[in-house]
Amino acid sequence: MSKYEVTIGLEIHAELNTKTKAFCGCANEYGAKPNTNVCHVCLAIPGTLPLINRAAVEKTIAAGLAIDCKINDIAVFERKHYFYPDLAKGYQISQLEKPICLGGGIKLGTGKFIRLNRIHLEEDAGKLLHNAVSQISLVDYNRGGVPLIEIVTEPDIANATEAVEFLEEVRQRLVYAGVAECRMEQGGMRCDVNISLKPKGAKKLGNRCEVKNLNSFKSVARAIEYEAKRQSELLDKGETISVQTRKWDEGAGKTTLMRDKGEAYDYRYFPDPDIYPIRITDRDVAEIKVAMPKLAHELKTQFVTEFGLPEYDAHVLTKNKLLAHFYLDCVTLLKEPKAVSNWTMVDIGKMMNDANTDVPPVTPAQLTEIIKMAMDKTITKTIGLELLQKVSGDSRKSPKKIAKDMGLLDGVSDAEIKKIFEAVKKDKPALVDDFKNNPQKVLPFIIGQVMKNTRGRAKSEIVEKLAKEFFK
Ligand code: ADP
Ligand code: MG
Ligand code: ZN
Repeated sequence: MSKYEVTIGLEIHAELNTKTKAFCGCANEYGAKPNTNVCHVCLAIPGTLPLINRAAVEKTIAAGLAIDCKINDIAVFERKHYFYPDLAKGYQISQLEKPICLGGGIKLGTGKFIRLNRIHLEEDAGKLLHNAVSQISLVDYNRGGVPLIEIVTEPDIANATEAVEFLEEVRQRLVYAGVAECRMEQGGMRCDVNISLKPKGAKKLGNRCEVKNLNSFKSVARAIEYEAKRQSELLDKGETISVQTRKWDEGAGKTTLMRDKGEAYDYRYFPDPDIYPIRITDRDVAEIKVAMPKLAHELKTQFVTEFGLPEYDAHVLTKNKLLAHFYLDCVTLLKEPKAVSNWTMVDIGKMMNDANTDVPPVTPAQLTEIIKMAMDKTITKTIGLELLQKVSGDSRKSPKKIAKDMGLLDGVSDAEIKKIFEAVKKDKPALVDDFKNNPQKVLPFIIGQVMKNTRGRAKSEIVEKLAKEFFK
């Protein structure tokens, strides 16, 4: 056992999914051609003035409500000064003294509570593109001015497992609240990890290192493990940890020094004179709260108490917001919660997995039409799955119509079934004696043969009745 305790605090950045940027009317859109979503304001042409995007403030409040924060009645924007080519103004509009949200937190599965310090709203910077071959760097300002929230925790996290669980919960809440997409591979959610070590049981926290800009949960976990080991080895040697900003090197699996505290920036924060403080009333907050979509844990409770689903089903269905809402829509169309859950979790889940997407491949109307046919035994499960594949990706296709065109909805005549019996008997004459001795043993085989030859259109009760007459 280690003689040290690890202390971790996270600073999480998430881009809000507003239509336009935070302080101008440019589109907030990922993947556009470089420098096409820009204007005089976000390019910082002298003489231009910012205008606050109301939706960005509302979504920040919604994020706060989703993580149980207190919403400040007055919020102030400040200028945070630093020089970098992707920051056109030479300062970032951010918040320091009066952020929009304060406090709050998330309870982990173990019952441990991780406190939040704050959530504030700021603007994202542009992006530098370095070309190693031509040795030229270009700048794309499309992302400059995109609304970004920063979620800061208290130093309450003790290890990588807790950090990842916390991050997953934060991401899920932001996505369910409808405020951010949190696509980490697009830089839509990024995380700085602050980490320090102290002797077991000690009150005072040790000196911390901050690891910047981690963009996957896996790197967060790896960076924490690496830093905990690095710092404990230094402490073992009797060295002190210097306060540093470090960078994660994914390939090498280690952190490297970016700058020492001695070189720490003085950002010269001050309230932005171009932007009035904003007043947030109780009524504003109440309106946002009422309009907020249900969070995962609220849907989970609804699935268990209102629909009687097992905890497990509720858990699987609410892991993905689109799937949870898909399920809700299906149950509205067909009041068979457990049957719908089975098809959604297993079969729709598998199709989504195979296609590596988080979007259900069929519409609720299509799925429930198939489930209805399967439940009243018009079709077998196998045919149902075939129909799912056939309508997948095309919301105009009707499973019922396809089934009809395939002749699946016409019943099978007794004569047709008897004809299959004849063929089976010819192929395996011993069946007749076997049937007399132990009908229950051979019935499944006979029914199976009929199903195969009628593509599942026959009803097994009828096949059983006819078989008893035929083979007796
Ligand atoms: P800054 O803005 O300079 O990075 P903050 O005081 O806002 O500093 O802290 C940033 C993050 O670092 C917070 O999540 C906080 O919980 C965490 N933190 C502060 N002190 C420590 C420490 N000694 N060990 C680990 N984390 C810390
Ligand atoms: Mg920091
Ligand atoms: Zn703009």
